Amino acid sequence: SGQLTMGPKVAEFEAGLVEACEVEHAVVVSSGTAALHLAVLAVGIGPGHEVIVPAYTFPATANVVALTGARPVLVDIDPETMNVRPEAVADAVTERTRAVLVVHLFGRPARWEEIETAVPEGVELLEDAAGALGARRKGRACGGLGRLGCLSFHPRKIVTTGEGGAVTTNDEGLAESVKSTRHHGWRNADMPAPGLNYRLSDMLCAVGITQLRRLEALLEARERLAAAYGERLAGHVQVPSPDEGDRHGWQAFVVQLDRRDEALQALRDAGIEAQIGT
Ligand SMILES: *Cc1c(COP(=O)(O)O)cnc(C)c1O
Repeated sequence: SGQLTMGPKVAEFEAGLVEACEVEHAVVVSSGTAALHLAVLAVGIGPGHEVIVPAYTFPATANVVALTGARPVLVDIDPETMNVRPEAVADAVTERTRAVLVVHLFGRPARWEEIETAVPEGVELLEDAAGALGARRKGRACGGLGRLGCLSFHPRKIVTTGEGGAVTTNDEGLAESVKSTRHHGWRNADMPAPGLNYRLSDMLCAVGITQLRRLEALLEARERLAAAYGERLAGHVQVPSPDEGDRHGWQAFVVQLDRRDEALQALRDAGIEAQIGT
């Protein structure tokens, strides 16, 4: 097309993500961290606000909150699901709570509807679905559950563009706000608010489009591997699994061990790639 950024591949990748996440709008950005940053800015998070964040997640989830001047309030996770416990979220709510950043850690869907009922009306539920593209909670697509959803296309995720991310939403006004802040704050020929450059190039979108077409095959390959690990590890460690009826994205297969370093070495000696989970 001759267009290297903000061209037709951006729109095409966004259309694919709209379908995959079953939402009205998707806005591609330069990373999952950029997506999270734009999401908290779009709902007006700032100084004096509190945002509830899992104590165990990738650090970007809390970093973007701190960058706005708001306070990330860390709540414990359930060691079995590795996602926040809805009761812990309820206990952490104060009159300053503006949002909860719910993470589907390692691609395992969080207990969304329980978190929804754990917070008062007016508290926004934002979704860090960085590793959960294709995962489903009670039949609903992860990345399409929150007022805004955030995806990552880092090489460790399910679909990768090398670096990249996206914000999803059903709210047209929020989608317009995210698009504007992604692009310096431009709205048509005007710049009513300051913005950033969080765009994703057409070249990277082209890489994402072809992968997204294979999303089902990518997920099935991960499911086969997870089942094989599960079969071999059962009886030795607690094997991860999604809640009944959910679909796990299997961004990572994470187990907890006492003799971690020995196990890591033994796996590596056998040619099986493994690392300390973060
Ligand atoms: C990977 C990840 C991020 C950050 O995404 P980047 O694209 O690396 O910026 C944020 N949150 C979670 C849960 C992640 O897994």
